Amino acid sequence: MKITNEQKPILKKAVETCGQGMQVAIAIEEMAELIKELIKNARGGNNERHICEEVADVFIMLSQLEMMFDPQGGEIKKNIHNKMTRLKLRLNQLEKTKKEGAE
Ligand SMILES: [Mg+2]
Repeated sequence: MKITNEQKPILKKAVETCGQGMQVAIAIEEMAELIKELIKNARGGNNERHICEEVADVFIMLSQLEMMFDPQGGEIKKNIHNKMTRLKLRLNQLEKTKKEGAE
């Protein structure tokens, strides 16, 4: 998933036109819609297409949140890098523990 350079000005215009407060409210609303579809799926729903639609909505809103709260782009990137490094470490430790348990 990636917002293209052609799409970025559209998101910027949405923030400028509708305002930060409104876009934050819409972001929250879209995340709630995704939660609803995921719960439906966990209960056995056949709603993969709806999940994909809501993931797209949330992704679009996350991109706007990034524009609003991290306009230079460095803070979120740094957090992603650190969290991915930590996840990789935890998965390696978990794998090691499982192997030791199987021996
Ligand atoms: Mg939606």
